[in-house]
Amino acid sequence: MMKTNRTVIVQCRLSSTRLPGKALKDLCGKPVLAYVLESMHKVKADHYFVATDEASYEQLLPVCKEYGFECFAGSLDDVLGRFISLLDTIKTKTVIRATADNPFLFYEAAEESAQLFEEKNNGKTHCDYLTYSGLPHGSGVEVFSAESLKKAASETSEPYDHEHVGPAFYNHKDKYVCDFVPAPRRFNYPELRTTIDTYSDFLRAVSMLNYLKSHNYEGPFTTEQILEACQSNSVKYPVVLVPSVVKGHGTGHLRRCLTAASQGGFFVYVPEDKTLKEADSLIEEYIAQGLSKNQIITSIPDESYLPAIITDTFELTQNQLKELAKNRSLISIDEGSKYTDYCDYLLDIIPSYKCERRANITNSAFITLPENVRSDSDAEERNIEKVLICLGGEDPSNLTMPAAQAFRRKFPDAKITAIISNEDNPYVDYAGGTNIEFIKPVAGLREKLFEYDIVVTHYGLTAFEAVYAGCGVILLPTTNLHKKLAEKYNFAYVGDKSISDSALQTALSSENLYAKKILSGEKKSLGEFLRHLSAGKRMCCPVCGKVPSQPDEVISRNETRTYRRCSTCGMVYMAFTTIEDKKYKKEYFFEEYKKQYGKTYEEDFDSIKAQGMRRAAIIKSLSGVGGAATEKNLLDIGCAYGPFLAAASESSFNPFGTDIAEDAVSYVQQKLKYPAVCSAFPDIDTAEEFGITQFDVVTMWYVIEHFKDLGKVLRKVSTLVRKGGLFAFSTPSGEGISAVSDKDHFYEISPTDHYTIWEPSRADSILRIFGFRVERIVSTGHHPERFPSIKKSGAQKGSLKWNLVDAISHARGLGDTVEIYCRKI
Ligand SMILES: [Zn+2]
Repeated sequence: MMKTNRTVIVQCRLSSTRLPGKALKDLCGKPVLAYVLESMHKVKADHYFVATDEASYEQLLPVCKEYGFECFAGSLDDVLGRFISLLDTIKTKTVIRATADNPFLFYEAAEESAQLFEEKNNGKTHCDYLTYSGLPHGSGVEVFSAESLKKAASETSEPYDHEHVGPAFYNHKDKYVCDFVPAPRRFNYPELRTTIDTYSDFLRAVSMLNYLKSHNYEGPFTTEQILEACQSNSVKYPVVLVPSVVKGHGTGHLRRCLTAASQGGFFVYVPEDKTLKEADSLIEEYIAQGLSKNQIITSIPDESYLPAIITDTFELTQNQLKELAKNRSLISIDEGSKYTDYCDYLLDIIPSYKCERRANITNSAFITLPENVRSDSDAEERNIEKVLICLGGEDPSNLTMPAAQAFRRKFPDAKITAIISNEDNPYVDYAGGTNIEFIKPVAGLREKLFEYDIVVTHYGLTAFEAVYAGCGVILLPTTNLHKKLAEKYNFAYVGDKSISDSALQTALSSENLYAKKILSGEKKSLGEFLRHLSAGKRMCCPVCGKVPSQPDEVISRNETRTYRRCSTCGMVYMAFTTIEDKKYKKEYFFEEYKKQYGKTYEEDFDSIKAQGMRRAAIIKSLSGVGGAATEKNLLDIGCAYGPFLAAASESSFNPFGTDIAEDAVSYVQQKLKYPAVCSAFPDIDTAEEFGITQFDVVTMWYVIEHFKDLGKVLRKVSTLVRKGGLFAFSTPSGEGISAVSDKDHFYEISPTDHYTIWEPSRADSILRIFGFRVERIVSTGHHPERFPSIKKSGAQKGSLKWNLVDAISHARGLGDTVEIYCRKI
């Protein structure tokens, strides 16, 4: 090797307090240290050392050797002394030091900083110690002169200096030249954390490696690859799946979670005290197929790497839900408890008979259907030669034996196979003399179902899989609910517990035996969908701005959002959304408006202005503004192209506008000649912009629902309105005919950037929090055609019925929009 006069030293010990033995901890097939050594070997040097303590030496040696490093043992606590002893054994000029905590070191940055250090010392300048600042947390390496370190070590006896290396230099800057060089842009990511210090860090590293591996990146990883992984959704939005691993709940939950984890790179929480006997063998089966061992976790990470929690547990207790919902999104699959208000999102996959609660989405296409399907699935008549009895392995109701015997009587020549869980099963003793084959749970059963003519099972995943595989399916319901489910979804079933011959015959001759029509055949990847959900955002009440101790009542759920009502202030707000933030672009009005209304905002100017004249008249009547002599200052927030400013001006107000759309603001300034500023409310300083601290009137027309930080906005409005002045706004009504007649549809079509839904009956109590009293509520947006009675009868505009409904809409305030005028008190 070319002489570089450099030595790379990776500092490593196994006695880490937070994560003992982390350097040798298996991280997706290799010890953590291996990744560090691989990276640091990319830095040019004559010598590569791992500097460790005596106690760790033996264990670290094989890894060091494998990756081309020598292993040097020195003092455990006097790290500085350890470095000096090592340096005494070799001749080197420059030392590049890294620690063994970070498997994602930027080796390019390390090489660059070493070169920079050498350049500084080649010229007229001198440098003892150099490091890049601004690298991801824990990615930094230090470069220093071996001679200087020896000198620095001999000059300090401070314990802190000896426990570390760098401080011997930078705590003595009077004697040593220390350069903290801001890292070049491509390395400068101080907000990222790639080091492994805690259990949560370790899980983040697992997510990163899963990402890197799935993109076929081989280590040592380049800066670009590491950054790509850091910014991927699978690393940014970790997911922990929580399946039921309790005896009696069957293996379906764990199976489904392991499948999703394999698809999406998620973690699966399987606690040590699991009671499901098949859990370990199932996990092994998935690991053999490529799931990483590191994806199975025995504790849920803390808040430093907050995962979304996805439960698949059948029925959670209130306490479990409360614990899991803490500070992170909680998504539940087929959740059957009554406490689902804790859940941000509910996904129902297995069709259920009757659920009083609404799910965000119900879709059986998420069932992983078998690839292997019977070729004779269209045949009318089939010989029954092979029967599989599969009652979840555990069979708590002891139906396996009666079922097997009933089939034996009915089909004396058929091969009857029954799956039983384990040695606890009483039937094992019978196995000898019954001519029934008893087998243990089968790995990958889904793909073997097609071999059987008839599958006997409970209502659940296997039943749907067997139908899809083209088998005859007979259910053995154990509860009344399961009987109803069997009927509702057109399964053949034997309702009689003793499985009498006549009951079996009825099921066999049922037209539902080959219930092919149960599934649509559409397939969706559960893993992919959960990945999409995991990036969803949970939000608390935008008025109060804090997370309540009990979950707020859920008002409506739909595929992309969940709405709740704040238990403190009563506001209905978007509490969970899977839709990304809308960016209000400069060209918002030209494009978006036209898309929505079929004409440009400018073209609509006059009709909006006419609305404005009406609103200005109401404001005038409430504020008692007279002619031009008593001009009052009015600020319109979200003024757009200024139609209301024009109306206000004609109504003898003195108008000011603000909007976030630049093109709109310049139109107001240049064409209309009103003072306006481009700013994102509430970040506006009106004293500076307009020379006015308080206005007589502040207005917002269809703007208020767009604020995520409504509390902050209303506090600002409150300071902007003088005492006795007015605040007026319009917004969609949560008590209009559309909301009242079909609440879920109303919330489903509510624009995804409307964060609050105002209900006129609650407006006063919410506005009082901010020092306003409601003076007038005007119901607007009356649409008789949206009333059920008009929809049903098809009555035409102008008819008696239409006019009557229109009158009712006005009288009861059932318009779909509302204007609220309130006074600062
Ligand atoms: Zn609230």
